[in-house]
Amino acid sequence: MSLFSQHNFSGQKALIRVDFNVPLDKQTFAIGDDNRMRAAIPTIVKILKDGGSVILMSHLGRPKEGPETKSSLIHIVGHLQELVTKAMGTDVFVQFANDCMGDEAFEKSAALRPGEVLLLENLRFYKEEEKGDVGFAEKLSKLGDVYVNDAFGTAHRAHASTAVIAQFFPKGKKMFGLLMEGEVKAAELVLHKAEKPFTAIIGGAKVSDKILIIENLLQRATDIIIGGGMAYTFMKAKGGQIGKSLCEDDRLGTALEILTKAAEKGVTIHLPEDSIIADNFAADANTDVASSNAIPDGWMGLDVGPKACEQFAAAIKRSKTILWNGPMGVFEMEKFQTGTKTIAIAVAEATANGAFSLVGGGDSVAAVNQFGFADQVSYVSTGGGAMLEYFEGKVLPGIAAINE
Ligand code: AMP
Repeated sequence: MSLFSQHNFSGQKALIRVDFNVPLDKQTFAIGDDNRMRAAIPTIVKILKDGGSVILMSHLGRPKEGPETKSSLIHIVGHLQELVTKAMGTDVFVQFANDCMGDEAFEKSAALRPGEVLLLENLRFYKEEEKGDVGFAEKLSKLGDVYVNDAFGTAHRAHASTAVIAQFFPKGKKMFGLLMEGEVKAAELVLHKAEKPFTAIIGGAKVSDKILIIENLLQRATDIIIGGGMAYTFMKAKGGQIGKSLCEDDRLGTALEILTKAAEKGVTIHLPEDSIIADNFAADANTDVASSNAIPDGWMGLDVGPKACEQFAAAIKRSKTILWNGPMGVFEMEKFQTGTKTIAIAVAEATANGAFSLVGGGDSVAAVNQFGFADQVSYVSTGGGAMLEYFEGKVLPGIAAINE
């Protein structure tokens, strides 16, 4: 059993770093997607049920110059209270402190009784948070008896509340929350204990964003599927005609190097044989199907084509481990959704047949949610950038600080 599950929080004040960086409507401040809040509820509930109290700290948005209304966590207090109340099956009042430091925060946290919850104002109203300021972290640490990091979404940042603060708690009094534990376990399973065949599906816009992850996966995967806009840099590097498809000309050499390394290592790289092409980057563009290496001038590839879908789905269905990062096309527009949807269906099918599948990285997560497949894959990561860096082989400061 994990440290968190074993720990009895009775009579203790748990200072939890959560990732409540949820999208808010610009005018009404209504929450657009509360997945990140829901993801932290099991951790909060365990502590409250033990008889502990909870102090929540988070960032929201990217405030530049101190406090600003649009990035205030006060907008989410009501919904948080609803979620905690529902999960606990009894009324829980969520208090709010207008500052994450200072008298109000200290007085409210000191007065907190077992079963009570306090949400602190946005940590990033202080520049010290992102700078990883040690003095700021030490002050925050005084608010609680135990430090729980449940913010996987910021685990790749060495910020005051995500990493630096851990040094002010002794071993046994700093730990991952349930969300963070789940993320780390799923990621480790894929990276270090993957059953083969292991297929990584990498999509999205740019090769430059995905080079490190591909290079790391070349050491581990048996198959790498490359789709999305980045596929056309590979196509051009191989001598194909790609019309006005997305292309990073300064990465043509890198693309060729990746293909050479893959061949040396016996990793199969799957590139889309055909594409859905469009005469314009628009939802109502004219479309056609073309070989991905013979796209006419004036046209661009905006989704993988029917042959590619078949080829990719077959590789996915053979797999025992699947990692998916990035969409296969411009899935935000209906005409260019089929590739990403086909992949989602194939991943769900492979999972039903016993494969372990992890979807991580912002846009592929948005896609599985949009198409309704989130509960048909083994794990959907809440941490886009953090998961990407983990799969690039980097040590995440938020994880290292707890393990030290
Ligand atoms: P990323 O954040 O790198 O995973 O990229 C995701 C974005 O890539 C999404 O907004 C997609 O619309 C976009 N995208 C996927 N395929 C293409 C394509 N063929 N051409 C242009 N953009 C694409």
